[in-house]
Amino acid sequence: MPAHDVIVVGVGTMGSAACDALARRGVSVLGLEQFGIPHSMGSHSGRTRMIRSAYREHPDYVVLVRRAADLWRDLERASGRTLLTPSGLIFIGSPKDQLLEESLQCVQQHGVRHEILSPADLRRRFPQFRLPTDRGAFIDLEAGFLRPEKCIESFTDRAFRHGGEIHTYEPVVAWKADGNGVEVQTSRGRYPAGRLVFTPGPWADRLLTDLGVKLTLTRQVQAWFRPLRPEMFGLDRFLPWTVQVDAERNIYGFPMVDDEIGVKVAEHSRVHRTTLEEVSRVPSAEDEALLRRELGQLLPDAAGPALSLQVCLYTNTPDHQFIIDLHPRWPAVVLACGFSGHGFKFAPVVGEALADLALEGRTGLPIQFLGLHRFR
Ligand SMILES: Cc1cc2nc3c(=O)[nH]c(=O)nc-3n(C[C@H](O)[C@H](O)[C@H](O)COP(=O)(O)OP(=O)(O)OC[C@H]3O[C@@H](n4cnc5c(N)ncnc54)[C@H](O)[C@@H]3O)c2cc1C
Repeated sequence: MPAHDVIVVGVGTMGSAACDALARRGVSVLGLEQFGIPHSMGSHSGRTRMIRSAYREHPDYVVLVRRAADLWRDLERASGRTLLTPSGLIFIGSPKDQLLEESLQCVQQHGVRHEILSPADLRRRFPQFRLPTDRGAFIDLEAGFLRPEKCIESFTDRAFRHGGEIHTYEPVVAWKADGNGVEVQTSRGRYPAGRLVFTPGPWADRLLTDLGVKLTLTRQVQAWFRPLRPEMFGLDRFLPWTVQVDAERNIYGFPMVDDEIGVKVAEHSRVHRTTLEEVSRVPSAEDEALLRRELGQLLPDAAGPALSLQVCLYTNTPDHQFIIDLHPRWPAVVLACGFSGHGFKFAPVVGEALADLALEGRTGLPIQFLGLHRFR
């Protein structure tokens, strides 16, 4: 008999959620993480992550994000920490912006609480922005932001409290499966188990070489600037925001949250392709200049001195939708990867789906659109 029912490889965002979901179902789970928990080498660092219901990318994301919001609330209660702030989120675009239009249609179709702002409303309500006068906006009133490092700590803590076992600084170097179960080899030893859940984030290509899907990494820089007028950028007067620049690029950011003294700004695009071998983890003067220029144009009173910059990674699938499925060859192996820069908000519902797949081989959650079949 193996010592563990399930092994989870990678205890970052999705892996910590999976360990938590599995431990709470009473199975014996071992999580293996190559770094500490949390850390800044993968996809989860940066103190804030948006959660939104305006999900034009696929209608089932709206169902999943609503379930995730309930589960975040449960985790928040269990941890006694503030994890999710339902601040709302403002989407800004030009009048002909198709993506903005589709996001608005999505909130209307799904009955997501929202508020439409005309260009005049936008200027009056948010004088912080300097935008062309035709820009309109809507606020997703069900949106907000999460604190990723605290979320991962809280999943991990709850997993421990339910008997989960987690090893840090123990990279998985190989694995095998057969009809009877799985075996994982790490830097310290070999572990047999009944089932295996892979949640390796940017390292997916190294462990999952036979999926037939090309995952690409992009380097994403997040920057914090001290506003020139801090009183304009607290949560009492400002919201998380995203401005659609063109079909491929948004600039987005957050107010000064918690006890922070700066606003955060970043670019959401998938143009800065990289690899694990060549990625520069040290922010450069060009990184700072690019984000300062964008912030200075959109929110001139926010673009004071730079406080810090951080490099993070997206793991992108060809269609930018996630992969959550059973391994095509080994039914005892479950995969969750390719979260393409928008997965964090779903972590607790992904954890639930992974626990279903590992223990029952199927799930009632609407994740069929995230299966590997779409690439065949
Ligand atoms: C700058 C930035 C901003 C983002 N903003 C948002 C947002 O606003 N809203 C949103 O919903 N999403 C956002 N995302 C996306 C979201 O953060 C990711 O989709 C999510 O964190 C991916 O989780 P993951 O578990 O796949 O990866 P990770 O959290 O990186 O976890 C993978 C883990 O696996 C471990 N691992 C890998 N290989 C091994 C091995 N061989 N042995 C042991 N351990 C291993 C890694 O060390 C890591 O801890 C953003 C991402 C970035 C980079």
